Amino acid sequence: MASHQQTDNDIAEIRAAVRQLCDKFGEDYWLQMEREDGYPAEFVSELTSSGYLGVLIPEQFGGAGLGVLEASAVMEEICRSGAHAGVCHAQMYVMGSVLRHGSDEQKSRYLPKIASGELRLQSFGVTEPTTGTDTTSLKTTAKKVGDQYIINGQKVWISRIQHSDLMLLLARTTDKSEVAKKTDGLSTFIIDVKAAEGNGLTIRPIESMINHHSCELFFDDLAIPAENLLGQEGKGFKVILDGMNAERILIAAECVGDGRYFIDKASAYASDRVVFDRPIGANQGVQFPIARAYTQVEAAGLMVEKAAKMFDAGLPCGAEANMAKMLASEASWSAGDVCMQTHGGFAFAKEYHIERKFRETRLYQIAPVSTNLILSYVAEHVLDMPRSY
Ligand SMILES: Cc1cc2nc3c(=O)[nH]c(=O)nc-3n(C[C@H](O)[C@H](O)[C@H](O)COP(=O)(O)OP(=O)(O)OC[C@H]3O[C@@H](n4cnc5c(N)ncnc54)[C@H](O)[C@@H]3O)c2cc1C
Repeated sequence: MASHQQTDNDIAEIRAAVRQLCDKFGEDYWLQMEREDGYPAEFVSELTSSGYLGVLIPEQFGGAGLGVLEASAVMEEICRSGAHAGVCHAQMYVMGSVLRHGSDEQKSRYLPKIASGELRLQSFGVTEPTTGTDTTSLKTTAKKVGDQYIINGQKVWISRIQHSDLMLLLARTTDKSEVAKKTDGLSTFIIDVKAAEGNGLTIRPIESMINHHSCELFFDDLAIPAENLLGQEGKGFKVILDGMNAERILIAAECVGDGRYFIDKASAYASDRVVFDRPIGANQGVQFPIARAYTQVEAAGLMVEKAAKMFDAGLPCGAEANMAKMLASEASWSAGDVCMQTHGGFAFAKEYHIERKFRETRLYQIAPVSTNLILSYVAEHVLDMPRSY
């Protein structure tokens, strides 16, 4: 009981400190970033130097050594403040693959510099234009030649690569036709982005609906040192898969933050805005949808907390992490829709920031995994129904 109380106090302190940091930037800063297609480098630097992006890195490597429960509180508060955590969330969790699968040499080479912010590892290249969600059919290849791997292929929607020193890449090292299981024969590599760009790697930004810094990548005989293989050759699918539960829980926490942002805004506006001589929030037609959205966000928040606690206890939590992500992404979207409706025409004015957050939170029903794929996971792996693919 005492330890639960301690954790609650620690989390309350983390929330207050992150909120204070975010308030220094404010919503106009995020609007300006979007207008300029800019990257919020000052925000990310301050978040890193304050230690928040290294919360999951063990103390021996210079991080805070905390759990996903604490990391979720950081992500939630960033989003609740009106910021977009998608600009930096991967710096928190991509390193988990290095931590769990890296050699001692790789861990001591990379993790302390990731914790200090000297190196950014906030990009991961999995998705391809022709194979999409069918990850094991991906076509990018890595062929071992002497003490190098030669990489050829294409990736799409690879976020933050232009603001990252390192990227994790998933590529095929053995053809799908030659492996017993389709998840075999894939390998994960650490790519030094700055060394690769222009030397076999071409990066092309994608103009998109939100300021998420996503790019198309073209690999044309990119040579990388064989020592950059992360984990065992042919077992890279597991290297990536192992990081997915943390990613899903943290993104679900972002959605809860977005949802709380929308509820804060909607309830305040409904109480202030007077039409027909009374606050619009005095009408049940306005207040009930806000109360319903609040209830959905709070319920999703409980699933996020459950998944985070299971993850931190080392328990299998694939189902809970997936369900948390689905519930939270749907709850934040509903809350955003209600917030738009409550603001009437002003919802469309950029200076109110709501339409930006509305667009940003929509992403999470699609990436990093779409709702259908989560439903398929629950149906087949939790409810033991027949496989569909
Ligand atoms: C802004 C943004 C940032 C991203 N960042 C990254 C990144 O950093 N790194 C990275 O690797 N990827 C990234 N992605 C890619 C993202 O993970 C994929 O877009 C997502 O997984 C869906 O894949 P897809 O777009 O190829 O859709 P598809 O696989 O083409 O699917 C399209 C639709 O069909 C549905 N569908 C497909 N197959 C089935 C089926 N068998 N049953 C039921 N429904 C099905 C899907 O649910 C989806 O709704 C990003 C995407 C976006 C938009």
